[in-house]
Amino acid sequence: MRVERPTAADVASGPNLSCRTTSYKVPHQMPRNPYGACAREHVGCSPMTRHFSLTIVLVALAGSGCSSLTGPRRISNADPDAARIVTEDIPRFWTAFDRMTSATDTMPLRADYLDRGTIGLQDFTAARWKSAKTLTAMVWPLRVYYGSIRQNTLSMQAREPEIRRAFRALDTLYADAVFPDVYFAIGGMSTGGTTSQRGLLIGTELFARATDSPVSILSPWGQSVVRSIDILPAIVAHELTHYQQQYGGSTGTLLGQSIKEGSADFVGELLTGRTINESIRTYGDAHESEVWRDFSTQMNGTDLSRWLYNGGSVTTSSTRPADLGYYVGYKITAAYYAKQTDKRRALRDILRISDFKAFLLASGYASGL
Ligand SMILES: [Zn+2]
Repeated sequence: MRVERPTAADVASGPNLSCRTTSYKVPHQMPRNPYGACAREHVGCSPMTRHFSLTIVLVALAGSGCSSLTGPRRISNADPDAARIVTEDIPRFWTAFDRMTSATDTMPLRADYLDRGTIGLQDFTAARWKSAKTLTAMVWPLRVYYGSIRQNTLSMQAREPEIRRAFRALDTLYADAVFPDVYFAIGGMSTGGTTSQRGLLIGTELFARATDSPVSILSPWGQSVVRSIDILPAIVAHELTHYQQQYGGSTGTLLGQSIKEGSADFVGELLTGRTINESIRTYGDAHESEVWRDFSTQMNGTDLSRWLYNGGSVTTSSTRPADLGYYVGYKITAAYYAKQTDKRRALRDILRISDFKAFLLASGYASGL
């Protein structure tokens, strides 16, 4: 998704973006085992309830740095009402927050938050801030901002009906939809959302801005991405779409990765009426031909640095916004969808692209510019 501040690790892990995802659905019943201290990809420890028909989606990853067909498994519900909306990490964060005394006082976040966290928070930690030390160093300098969003983050559970509505909307549009649990965590103002084998992971602190939040203390990137809580269903819908994508072709090129992200915005908009990238659309629409000409000369390469996850390079003097690859991918996807008369088939095609160049051609997008 767009709300991902680039890090050295992200840049280094570029080839992993080309992971091909192939899924196999296996109906399965599992016992309840909440928050088991299981191994990361141990299916049997999933925190599912016994009441629901579960679907195990085996995700086989191919490509550089990815595992093979015997690799990690994703666990999701086939029933949109069965997926859990997990917010219990949030109050634990605030307990820890109140005990922090400095940028190097790591014990509160370690003992009161991370060590007691849900498996979703554990996955988020492993994927992003890695340790209490890193997270403390991220949170402390912005503690005034954090303080301003406390009440909004604590009201997250109240958004469940809107999130559930987006899940049900996908269920009506896509027969093979799967519904992972959603974990709301508080991180270091760097990642808005991502996925792990066990669910959608949402960085709640980026979507809880209050009217009196001191936005000016944030970086230019931070200022551009923090949102008020009403955007939350669109964030979840974007990540939910990533969970459905089963590509037969590599997303290693700029074109492939941009369509992956832009189509998550497009489908997210189908589900919720909004996208997480509304601000770049204004710029994109005003400069569409120029953006396309620039993009098209680079789209078959693997350098994403001018188009995706480049929020870190944005300064207050930049006129060209970061993440325009989302815009181009959205437009290609929207053009494809508009051309198809069978919209259910079109959505399925969008979620199961095997050849990104052929998809672009079929969309007819470039011919109009
Ligand atoms: Zn995304």
